[in-house]
Amino acid sequence: MSTIFSKIIKGEIPCNKVLEDDEFLAFHDINPRAPIHILVIPKVEYKNFQSVDPAIMEKMTKFIHRVATHMGLDKSGYRLIANNGENAGQEVLHLHFHMLGGAKLTWPNVTNLDEAKKFI
Ligand code: AMP
Repeated sequence: MSTIFSKIIKGEIPCNKVLEDDEFLAFHDINPRAPIHILVIPKVEYKNFQSVDPAIMEKMTKFIHRVATHMGLDKSGYRLIANNGENAGQEVLHLHFHMLGGAKLTWPNVTNLDEAKKFI
């Protein structure tokens, strides 16, 4: 399946790039939910976190650390989110991590706290 992120990787659609290496790309989200909102993707397509080869995650973790250091988020802190599947509201079916920072973020982000407590 080809997604908008595949087109960004191929250079068919532009992005506001933060960092890139042979295997990963980080770019600014087009619709930021925080002062800093970066998406990190592998160049190989995985639908989402649940279907990723765990071996990729070791390298991806190192790349995310590099992005954080590059942006100063390693010191100020950031939130790392991977929306996975329908209930998480995943829109783009190419694994991506959201890195959110640049300000104190509110928490939690579930829709209904009473609903959430049913699962404790
Ligand atoms: P998700 O809901 O986790 O699938 O998030 C998809 C994210 O991709 C959203 O935050 C969108 O704003 C972002 N997005 C979609 N298209 C683009 C694009 N062309 N460039 C940058 N970010 C994008």
